[in-house]
Amino acid sequence: MSDVRPPPPAADWAWFLDVDGTLIHIAATPSGISIPAAVPALLTALSARYGGAVALVSGRTVENLHRLMAPYRPAAAGLHGLERVTADGRVVRPEVAAGLDEIRADLSAIAGGGILLEDKGLALAVHYRQAPDREAEVLDAVTRAAITHSGFRMQAGKMVAEIGPAGFDKGAAVRAFMDEPPFQGRLPVFIGDDVTDEYGFEAVNALGGISVLVGPARPSAARYRLSDVEECLAWLGEAAGVLPDRDDAPRRRRR
Ligand SMILES: [Mg+2]
Repeated sequence: MSDVRPPPPAADWAWFLDVDGTLIHIAATPSGISIPAAVPALLTALSARYGGAVALVSGRTVENLHRLMAPYRPAAAGLHGLERVTADGRVVRPEVAAGLDEIRADLSAIAGGGILLEDKGLALAVHYRQAPDREAEVLDAVTRAAITHSGFRMQAGKMVAEIGPAGFDKGAAVRAFMDEPPFQGRLPVFIGDDVTDEYGFEAVNALGGISVLVGPARPSAARYRLSDVEECLAWLGEAAGVLPDRDDAPRRRRR
């Protein structure tokens, strides 16, 4: 755990950014979200300044990320690294794992009453933000499904438990991007807020990069910390050379 503010951004960095809880506030339901236009504008400016070396790394699907950030269409890893869109637009995605239908049927038994079962195609997410008292029940059911069906893993996040094919996480996604242009040869920075971001922190630490936790201090592999979404956007704005305007739209810093 660290309480150190990240250093001033350097020109040779590559940016890996979680979305919910990092660039935008977490909503009550995964779809109940709108983002300020300033966010895609900021990311576009960041990408322009860093030769396109910016990727979103999220639990959302890539399709959902692109819809959310339109018209900005970044390199992205969705579903915690299960699927990727490379900087040149190539889609890297595994086949749907056998057994997912059975798991969906099993987990639908606990859905309802504040529990939302989200079908992400290659993975399933069980949200319990609206029924926090049922956390133990959700974690137990998803853990049991991951143990029963070989080749699957469970990842717990903030008020969500996900199940999908084993062998993918945010760290693996970062390593894959770092083998490709325009990320290759740059120093990776990973910014995230949740438990699943720890894989990203560890990956960039191993590469000598910059790991940044967003949110209250907690045990984490991250070496730096920013206290909330606003502080994170301000730091990214500094890197991108934009300052937040009074009406919340970023503008170019005058030089
Ligand atoms: Mg997050």
